[in-house]
This record gives sequence, C-alpha cells and structure tokens, in this order.
Amino acid sequence: MGNQECIFCKISNNEIAAERIYENDNFFSISDANPKVEGHSLVISKRHFETILDMPSSLGTELLDCIKKTAAMLVEKHNSEGFNVVSNNFEAAGQVVKHVHFHILPRKKGDGVRVVG
Ligand code: AMP
Ligand code: ZN
Repeated sequence: MGNQECIFCKISNNEIAAERIYENDNFFSISDANPKVEGHSLVISKRHFETILDMPSSLGTELLDCIKKTAAMLVEKHNSEGFNVVSNNFEAAGQVVKHVHFHILPRKKGDGVRVVG
C-alpha cells in the first residue's frame, strides 16, 4: 500500500508509531516532529498523493473535517487565539515530504510568527 519509501505512508499504515490527534476515513493528524510554534501539527491523507493536485476533490469534505477538528482541539489545548493552515506543494514552494499534508499552526496575538510574506 502507498509508497514504500514515504515516511507519511509509514505513519499512515502504522509501520511508524505516531499518536493521532484526530482521524476520519481518509485523513489523520499528528504533531509535527520539528514544531515551528507550540502545537504545530499536520493533517495528512491516509492514501499517498504527492500534492493537492493529485488528491480527488471528492475528499474535500473529509479534509476540511480533519482540519477543523484538529484546529479546534489545538486552540483549546494551547489556549490559542487563532491558527494558520499551510500546504507546501512542490519543491519550489518548500515541500520536503512528497505526500500531501497541511500544517496547522496555533497562533497568539503578538507572537511574532510570520507565515506568509
Ligand atoms: P513540508 O514538506 O516542507 O511541508 O514539511 C514537512 C513537515 O513534516 C516538516 O515540518 C517536518 O518537521 C515534518 N515531519 C517530517 N517527518 C515527520 C515525522 N516522522 N513525524 C512528524 N512530522 C514529521
Ligand atoms: Zn506517502
């Protein structure tokens, strides 16, 4: 199943253990191994798609469900006041892991984090 060399496929099929924050049939979320901010997490597709362009649009509802549930749990847990959702697609945009994923970055007023620009 999936891409044998892909780290997120290995997490998806439990070859590598990672605690899941939330999951539904097609997506799950975990903490980022190198957090840029407190609570930095990733929403990852269970099946291997390289970028958003490879992902069927019919998965959009489940994707949004996983993003919303994960973000709400992180905001609650870290007493955040907001959050960013970021997806890097292709190397030129900074994508390192070639399996579609969405960064969720909990934010607080005046935290000085710059996500875009
Ligand atoms: P990018 O492909 O640039 O959007 O970022 C990939 C993200 O995956 C980085 O923030 C890494 O810290 C994170 N990452 C890589 N390997 C793991 C892992 N095994 N568990 C959790 N996060 C990971
Ligand atoms: Zn994969």
